Amino acid sequence: MKALIYNKNSKAKITLKEKSEPKILSDTDAIIKVTLSSICTSDLHIIDGFVPKAKNNIVLGHEFVGTIEKLGKNVKNFKIGERVSVNCETFCNKCFFCKKGYINNCTNGGWNLGCTIDGCQAQYVRVPYANNTLTKISNNITDKNALFVGDILSSGYFGAKMCEIKKNDTIAIIGAGPVGMCAMMCAKILGAGKIIAIDINQNRLDIAKKQNLADFYLNPNKCNIENEINKNTKYGADKVIEAAGAKSTFELAWKIARPNGIVGIIAMYEENQILPLPQMYGKNLTFKTGGVDAIHCKELMDLISKGKINTDFLITHSFKFKDIIKAYEFFKSNKDNCLKIMIEY
Ligand SMILES: [Zn+2]
Ligand SMILES: [Zn+2]
Repeated sequence: MKALIYNKNSKAKITLKEKSEPKILSDTDAIIKVTLSSICTSDLHIIDGFVPKAKNNIVLGHEFVGTIEKLGKNVKNFKIGERVSVNCETFCNKCFFCKKGYINNCTNGGWNLGCTIDGCQAQYVRVPYANNTLTKISNNITDKNALFVGDILSSGYFGAKMCEIKKNDTIAIIGAGPVGMCAMMCAKILGAGKIIAIDINQNRLDIAKKQNLADFYLNPNKCNIENEINKNTKYGADKVIEAAGAKSTFELAWKIARPNGIVGIIAMYEENQILPLPQMYGKNLTFKTGGVDAIHCKELMDLISKGKINTDFLITHSFKFKDIIKAYEFFKSNKDNCLKIMIEY
């Protein structure tokens, strides 16, 4: 089969080459024939050397859907031929962390696919702990409809859940990229009263507006965000989701949160950030960080199936798998207002 291999010692870092098909290694494995995948910013983070645990020579990719090709004999919840979405985290459901729902820290799994074990940017992929890691795609929706369930939609939901949203809370979401927009949809479903979308990328704000994902759309290049938040809320945002990952956005997150609010950080930073405790003293904020615990895939699949969430608009470009190197170059170039790329196999 063809597979996209990460090679940190080469100049290009990735090559599309022939590799033998994966085999069942454990009774709880499944082999999935990939039908669609996407390129995630985390894939770029690996290529750029920001993911220390990433192994050399693995197949990249962890955001995908496919059909079940083979099953280990202890996979009881699925049948060969079923369409499934795959969680970006493979998890045992038995360890200390899994039992608490913290599957990102599963002592036997976590984010392994396309990082420490072969991922989905190949025609076939071995998925460990298939009973927990797979989610059946509802009959009334397409593979494309379900493409983001196991990764960015889960991340958006995780960010919204982290904020312990109470009915009518005002939620500010910094970063109107794919994960930020997923967080907007999920915050609304979890009861947010007002949603404030913040991004310096006007095109992204316009897309969010066209999809009616928020109530306010603020661009820091066009207005003073703190002033706007003060004008439109009584004390500041009840909760803030930081999905952008820059120094300025980290700072903005705690500044626009109201006293005793929650700041949920789902962004991945490329450098350390500073918490200026003297300036923040008395604000009594709660900070939460993550590493998505993608344990709500079934719920998210149901929400898509019922028409309450639709992520199709995030797919702005598509490429055939044979052209995946071009797709990576394109995604990295940030051209043509690209949000997410769909790779067709
Ligand atoms: Zn990802
Ligand atoms: Zn576990």
